[in-house]
Amino acid sequence: MKIIFNRRYVMSEDYRAMWQDLGVDLEGHDALLAVLGDAYRDIYLAQKNRPEAMAYFDFVMSEVHGLRIKELMDEKREGRKIIGSYCVFVPEEIALAANATLVGLCSGADFAMEEVERLLPRNTCALIKSSFGFKLAKVCPYLESADMVVGENTCDGKKKAYETLGGLVDNLYIMDLPQVKSAQGRELLKAEYLRFKDAVEVLTGVKITAESLRDAIVLVNKKRAAMHRLLALRKADPAPISGLDSLLANQIFFYDNPQRFTESVHLLCDELEKRVAEKRGVSAPRTPRILISGCPQAVPNWKLPMIIEGLGAVIVGEESCVGERGTRNLTDESGESVAEMMDAIVDRYFAVDCAIFTPNGERRDHIREMVESYGADGVIHYGLQFCQPYLMEAVPVENSLEEVGIPCLRLETDYSMEDMGQLKTRVEAFVEQLR
Ligand code: SF4
Ligand code: SF4
Repeated sequence: MKIIFNRRYVMSEDYRAMWQDLGVDLEGHDALLAVLGDAYRDIYLAQKNRPEAMAYFDFVMSEVHGLRIKELMDEKREGRKIIGSYCVFVPEEIALAANATLVGLCSGADFAMEEVERLLPRNTCALIKSSFGFKLAKVCPYLESADMVVGENTCDGKKKAYETLGGLVDNLYIMDLPQVKSAQGRELLKAEYLRFKDAVEVLTGVKITAESLRDAIVLVNKKRAAMHRLLALRKADPAPISGLDSLLANQIFFYDNPQRFTESVHLLCDELEKRVAEKRGVSAPRTPRILISGCPQAVPNWKLPMIIEGLGAVIVGEESCVGERGTRNLTDESGESVAEMMDAIVDRYFAVDCAIFTPNGERRDHIREMVESYGADGVIHYGLQFCQPYLMEAVPVENSLEEVGIPCLRLETDYSMEDMGQLKTRVEAFVEQLR
């Protein structure tokens, strides 16, 4: 595969026609791309000592609304359907097996906040507000190109917000999710995945077969396994890659072509393996190592890693849905029938330890395991303001880490830049404590 390297945001006329056909608001969209381009240059391209293989991920970001959307449009012309998702509980395997492409709908930036706050209470988390802002302002070509948008009943905020989003998105499909890891909870998840499978088959007109489902499971497992390889390399000291760059790979995981993404992560890992063997890193050995834990950091939410790494620490892992919580487990590939494989899919997703589950001791155990295996010196718990599930779990997480002598800093923030000064001061003091 030929990878073209291009670090500039492309605003070609072809794309403008494509965006217009999709109903994207060109003026708002130009403003979004300009901000995104500047942020990317200042945060990502300004980093020193980046792996050369990050050129592919830079390219993907530079074409995030261009070439990738064109690819999706080409797929649609060939009869494929596009499904948009807001959560890692929506199984990509089912979409792929029915000849559909699943894309993550990012929700990582504030947009059209005045209009959003006419529909949602001010004290709604930034992620939910962002999903509304992108729809109201019509600036997301992924959302506009989706033949089905899946909203999942996870936290109360999302659950109620989808009732309103249903009036803005005419193809919204609601997936119910369990909140307790019990036999009944698993049955609910299974029933919902079977219902989703039926809905996707109706959407695409393609019946899922044992062969198509196995191929999809193998494809998604390969993508996750590539991420596992990347995560394992981050255990080295000095860290061979920055947390910012690793987060970018985790973010692109949600919308890139799965095969190409997997190959590109392996190319990156080949280079990182050499760095590890030569003891070359993005920072000096024994640089304070931080694990981020908590809410997902969707594109283009790079605020916290920018602060942490800008202050001389290195992020070695993300306990997050845009990170290890999202990619952690593989689906068992040994099933022979569609029913057996659907069971394997249910088992794989039922292990996701999102804070919407109660009780959720598994997540605390997993954070401690991650601290140990990544050699982290401390944990920064990242909670979005007004996110009840993760903010509520932050205290038990801190207590659990205290028991094993691991420092934890609990932060609560949003997508605005207003609290940058305050965050910097708190993170700086924390990093000093770790030195
Ligand atoms: S944090 Fe929970 S609700 Fe949010 S994407 Fe992850 S699994 Fe879904
Ligand atoms: S960040 Fe928290 S409040 Fe917001 S959607 Fe996710 S779980 Fe819900």
